[in-house]
Amino acid sequence: MGKGQELYKKAKTLIPGGTMLLSKRPEMFLPEKWPSYFSKAKGCKVWDLDGRELIDMCIMGIGTNTLGYGNDEVDAAVMETVKNGNMSTLSCPEEVYLAEKLIEINPWADMVRFARSGGEANSIAIRIARAASGKDKVAICGYHGWHDWYLSANHNDGDELSGHLLPGLSPNGVPKNLKDTVYPFHYNNYEELLSIVDNNEIGVIKMEVLRNFGPEDNFLQKVRDLATQRNIVLIFDECTSGFRETYGGIYKKYGVEPDMAMYGKTIGNGYALTAVVGKRSVMEAAQTTFISSTFWTERIGPTAALATLNVMERIKSWETITAIGKKMQKGWLDLAKTHHLSISVAGIPALSTYSINSDNALAYKTLVAQEMLKKGFLASTNFYACTEHSDDKFELYFNALDEVFATISKCENESEKIENLLEGPIVHSGFKRLN
Ligand code: PMP
Repeated sequence: MGKGQELYKKAKTLIPGGTMLLSKRPEMFLPEKWPSYFSKAKGCKVWDLDGRELIDMCIMGIGTNTLGYGNDEVDAAVMETVKNGNMSTLSCPEEVYLAEKLIEINPWADMVRFARSGGEANSIAIRIARAASGKDKVAICGYHGWHDWYLSANHNDGDELSGHLLPGLSPNGVPKNLKDTVYPFHYNNYEELLSIVDNNEIGVIKMEVLRNFGPEDNFLQKVRDLATQRNIVLIFDECTSGFRETYGGIYKKYGVEPDMAMYGKTIGNGYALTAVVGKRSVMEAAQTTFISSTFWTERIGPTAALATLNVMERIKSWETITAIGKKMQKGWLDLAKTHHLSISVAGIPALSTYSINSDNALAYKTLVAQEMLKKGFLASTNFYACTEHSDDKFELYFNALDEVFATISKCENESEKIENLLEGPIVHSGFKRLN
């Protein structure tokens, strides 16, 4: 067992659930074998606690680092802030410069509030939108964080959030009297949303502009028109989709504008900064409800975001990572064809995933992580692109994956048994209690 797994065993006795983020649990990749902790990260490389150098062809800090780890320009700006002081009794000017920049990027918006996590930004947006609309009820489509307002949807009638990124999110501890305040609707199902709006006093519609596939039958415009007609605040959660296909929200591709939008993940290239942008008529409601927090005023977040936005704009990083993601999707499909495997590829190119169409899909996902790790990669069945994923990394990756797909192909035609190849338990597929 490597040092990382040893530490993770200890972590589970000290930190309930092992990690702060479900998606970083080693059990989501390779139970009992995943390196778990890093000592250093640079470009698209990660060094584990045993000093082993690994190429990250996986989730890149869960989609935070589209400019790679430790981007020199962003880090230089952060170092300057560390040198000059990160905190003081006075506020940092960068928050105003960043607000201006975000209004420039989202010309329909007039005002901005900042936070440090996507879930927080989502809670802030919901509070402001409820205050502005004067109504409590919300329709949602997508994943919007861990807070009470969102998880309460799973008090309605069972696991209502299961179609929205993560199944099995337990709302234990979320007040049951929040039942029937949040109504999930399915993407591209306008009739379902209309029926929710017709039958409930909905004040807010919040949605991801897209997750795995795009709008059909003018879906986004219809949602926009409905919100406008019924005086509902429309919010686009761009925490994950932002800056991956455009310089700003993915909504720009579809020409439909919200009343508020949230950004997170990519905006600080790994440093914590999230933003809520919105129209003045809605955002001013923030003055009628208490929303305030100490570390929303620290200086590293906005410094990093300003530097990241500059680099992204200059190099058009969204074009680079989209091209890289397309190459990955094509590579998976070609390799699967070579090995007569049936796979499904999903996601926008910069956030690509695949699954092997088989009853053994999860076991194969485990095998991919296990075998690719031996060959020097952090890899699973998802790939979040960064600008550092150069051609030479791709060549190494696909040479390695070729052998793994060959093995999976043998399992599929029953000349090998997957049970005999796995060296530990199968990966978890969602939220569950750890032992
Ligand atoms: N909204 C969306 C669309 C997300 O994808 C995520 C994170 N996966 C969040 C909100 C929550 O962000 P965080 O994990 O930073 O709280």
